[in-house]
Amino acid sequence: MNSATETRTFEAEVSQVLHLVTHSLYSHKEIFLRELISNASDACDKLRFAALSDAALTAEDAELRIEVSADREAGTLTVRDNGIGMNRAEVIENIGTIARSGTRKFLESLSGDARKDTQLIGQFGVGFYSAFIVADRVELVTRKAGAASGEGVRWQSSGSGDYTIETTDAPRGTSVTLYLKDDEKEFLDAWKLRDLIKRYSDHVAFPIRLPVEKDGKPTDEFETVNHAAALWARSKSTITDEEYQAFYKSLSHDFSDALAWTHNRVEGAQSYTLLLYVPEKPPFDAVFSGRDERRGLKLYIRRVFIMDASEQLLPAYLRFMRGVVDSDDLPLNVSREILQQNKLVAQIRSACVKRALDLLDKLAKDEPAKFTQFTAAFGNVLKGGIAEDGANRERIAKLLRFCSTKSEGVQKDVALDDYIGRMQAGQDAIWYITADSYAAAKGSPQIEALRAKDIEVLLLGDRIDEWMIGYLHEYAGKRLRNAAKGELDAAVDEVEKERRQKVAEEAKPVIESLSKLLGDRVGEVRVSDRLTQSPSCIVLAEYEMALHMQRLLREAGHAVPDSKLILEINPAHPLVCKFAAETDEARRDDLGQLLFEEAQVAAGDQLADPAAFIARVNRVLLVGQD
Ligand code: ADP
Repeated sequence: MNSATETRTFEAEVSQVLHLVTHSLYSHKEIFLRELISNASDACDKLRFAALSDAALTAEDAELRIEVSADREAGTLTVRDNGIGMNRAEVIENIGTIARSGTRKFLESLSGDARKDTQLIGQFGVGFYSAFIVADRVELVTRKAGAASGEGVRWQSSGSGDYTIETTDAPRGTSVTLYLKDDEKEFLDAWKLRDLIKRYSDHVAFPIRLPVEKDGKPTDEFETVNHAAALWARSKSTITDEEYQAFYKSLSHDFSDALAWTHNRVEGAQSYTLLLYVPEKPPFDAVFSGRDERRGLKLYIRRVFIMDASEQLLPAYLRFMRGVVDSDDLPLNVSREILQQNKLVAQIRSACVKRALDLLDKLAKDEPAKFTQFTAAFGNVLKGGIAEDGANRERIAKLLRFCSTKSEGVQKDVALDDYIGRMQAGQDAIWYITADSYAAAKGSPQIEALRAKDIEVLLLGDRIDEWMIGYLHEYAGKRLRNAAKGELDAAVDEVEKERRQKVAEEAKPVIESLSKLLGDRVGEVRVSDRLTQSPSCIVLAEYEMALHMQRLLREAGHAVPDSKLILEINPAHPLVCKFAAETDEARRDDLGQLLFEEAQVAAGDQLADPAAFIARVNRVLLVGQD
């Protein structure tokens, strides 16, 4: 083993993060203590778990704990735990690099505006590096549980580019010593420390101890200053909102408060406790790395942390939930594989789903402003549940919010129940249109007739919508119907029927010549009941996938069979009349092609030959000038 001191350089990203952290987080500087204590607590959790299969690991010092001590003369503050510790390779890996994939994107996304950046850094979770907000030098001494006493590691850095690492003697666990900056000496004050621990880390399940002071000086004796009981194991009535929020923050490394939470103890054939939180916004990783990381629901068994089991305990559409599940009945030696098939786990999982949906229901009912925030942050994730969780489909659908032709702007605030409440007498379907943006949905020609009749149409402009809606055929006994698919059979009376027949009869020559002109690019040309303002639109058969969705899938490398497009025309539109009356064959061709191409563009389809389209438009615009 190499015991000489070695100097190594941080990964470039680490230096940048350090710099940003120290500058942007200054106004929240005291969070460093929460972060270090949270790491220490995780380390104790990990050791307790490892000791389940190897009791010797904790033999030398069995009572897991965290100690915070200040040396006023030296100007140092030390956070020490006797948890799992790290070996040399782990120190380099965990402290000298930033393993998370989104780091670079994260750095690019910073705006230079300190306020916004603080939020981002908070979402990113700074952890250990927050020590450099208040310290100009940090020393970490650690020894992995099970390693011989001479195999400790000392790591030191001033946070400016490189660090040293050497082998040393050390007790089991990790101690982090901060050489406080001159103007940060307030963190040496015993009262201040006690206050911060009570405020931010009271819920930590291991004792956090401070030296007992005598005549203003610390003694060798320590006293526990936190509750040291797992927060979720306490009875609800004894826990304040502040405590719930503090626990949420250390669990999630989030800077913001949780939006809502639910805390339940279930006793019966099996007993367990659930504490689930809805965050305010997605964590940094999910936003920037695009990685669907499933972290944040911790499984404990009789207060012993076992593993992060978000995937086993929550369906994907609730992956934003954070929290803790503590089971009284699962075996301590449970593995991921066992979790996958265990009956008790399946029950806990459905309890988690039920509680999460109850919580969202309550939020929607009692705190609409917060629910709007929730919809903006996670509404699209929740939509996945329509496909994923057939049993709860109706409940999930009730929680979704959309834009519609009757809502203002892009805020999604229309619930299906609102829609149903506004349905017209005799209206039997919930109408919607999908497109690849809200603006495109709003401008879809296919909804013109519905609009003209004042029938509300949901405007679905998110990528997931087309897929989601494929699973939502009905809500509260009402069919959901796509305004751009199939026949628009809005109930018509005899007079209207006759009128339509007459129009179709008169339009026959136009239809025929368009069919001939477009050949097999369209499956059918017909007179539209949907259009009032536009000359033409594309319609698909009832069960075909929307064109923008087909394009996305093709771009992602999927083979999607071509759909038979139906071109509908509005015979009353001047452009269609012009086409019908045009005697110059070339011009007539141009107009006919344009009727089709315009409809394609509006439907989010790609033109087969954009250059030819542009040439055509130009020719038509310049008619009379040649
Ligand atoms: P995070 O805790 O979010 O993963 P940190 O930067 O705080 O990020 O820590 C990085 C890693 O360093 C941790 O995941 C852990 O593996 C290790 N680590 C930090 N502090 C300790 C500690 N006190 N004991 C053992 N390992 C630690």
